[in-house]
Amino acid sequence: MKINEFLNKSYTCYHAVENAVSILESAGFAPISEAKSRKDAKGYYRADGGSLFAVKLGAENLQLALSHTDSPCLRLRYDGGVLSGVEKYGGGLLRSYFDVKLKIAGRVVLARSGGALRAKTVRSDFNVVIPSLAVHLGGGESGETFSVSRDMVPLLGECENLFASLGVPDAIDGELFCVPATEPFECGASGEYICSPRIDNLASVYASVKALVECNNKATCAVACFNSEETGSETRDGARSQKLKEFISDALKIAGIKADCDALLSSAFAFSCDGAHAFHPNRPDKYSTGAPVLGGGIVIKRNDRYATDCLTSAAAQKIFSDAGIKTQIYRHHPDLRCGSTIGLMAASGLGAAVCDVGVAQLAMHSCAETAAFSDVEAFKKGLVAFFNREVRVSENEITVK
Ligand SMILES: [Zn+2]
Repeated sequence: MKINEFLNKSYTCYHAVENAVSILESAGFAPISEAKSRKDAKGYYRADGGSLFAVKLGAENLQLALSHTDSPCLRLRYDGGVLSGVEKYGGGLLRSYFDVKLKIAGRVVLARSGGALRAKTVRSDFNVVIPSLAVHLGGGESGETFSVSRDMVPLLGECENLFASLGVPDAIDGELFCVPATEPFECGASGEYICSPRIDNLASVYASVKALVECNNKATCAVACFNSEETGSETRDGARSQKLKEFISDALKIAGIKADCDALLSSAFAFSCDGAHAFHPNRPDKYSTGAPVLGGGIVIKRNDRYATDCLTSAAAQKIFSDAGIKTQIYRHHPDLRCGSTIGLMAASGLGAAVCDVGVAQLAMHSCAETAAFSDVEAFKKGLVAFFNREVRVSENEITVK
């Protein structure tokens, strides 16, 4: 599956996980619960539908690539299957949602025999739109702001029941979202850029899963793609949960490796993979020193809101430069509030040595974000190079073999 198709079809975290699982399965990965011994050296686990963990077993040191599967959008409110309004999921760039192709997607609950209530991933075949207010009625006036409840309810057309319109009339509940459905497109004179919804952070999910598939690892290497980053990571499968720890512990047990899971995690090296702001040529005033450019290579993020320190940054630069991959440093403008991601949670929750890295992009959280194809490719290659090395962390030292 190519990156365009992955971004296009991964409307919500549930779809992203299903698509990532299909990449893993076509490379011979199976659910970790089906693995019986160290001979089954690779496996995956889906947690609550929206998070995914995958591992290739190796030597008794652990190397991780962490990312998130969710992206900002609008969550639907409904009553008895009838749309009653919307609310924000995460912090989307709201003005980009007007007058563009959107879909309804998410998951619903179906009652099955034996008392089972089962979640099913769904998306609409049809499109919806949020029409902006016409210019003659005051739309586009300077300083225009949007009320989510007043201005952002999608035009659904003739729809008596939301669940029925999705082909699941017997659904008893659901988490449904209005999500960008713009097909990814190339732009730039040489077709060097990709514009698409969800580059933050499915470019990282894609790169890390593909890297795990393609690597020839010596260490035990794993990817963790968490749901709920955009809303604080405190769900049962978010980055603050115990799911990664449980997954690694299960994988070790199945493989008959007697390592202490906590110790393994706290001596792990992890890349926290998430989008990075690229330099916007129209707004140089928003940047200070350290603004990455599109096409400039993997971004290493340095700020108090990230977990990167001088040791993990130096290790990252060695891993990537040894593989012939360019890097650039991002430092947020000191007068502006910096965003955050899951790096600090991995550092404080697991004790791992973490470096925050990512693909440079413009228009973060818009319905169409922009990145360079070459950076997405470099990111995947960089993670393959990482998984192919042995990175060992001790008290005051990181060794890259
Ligand atoms: Zn992100």
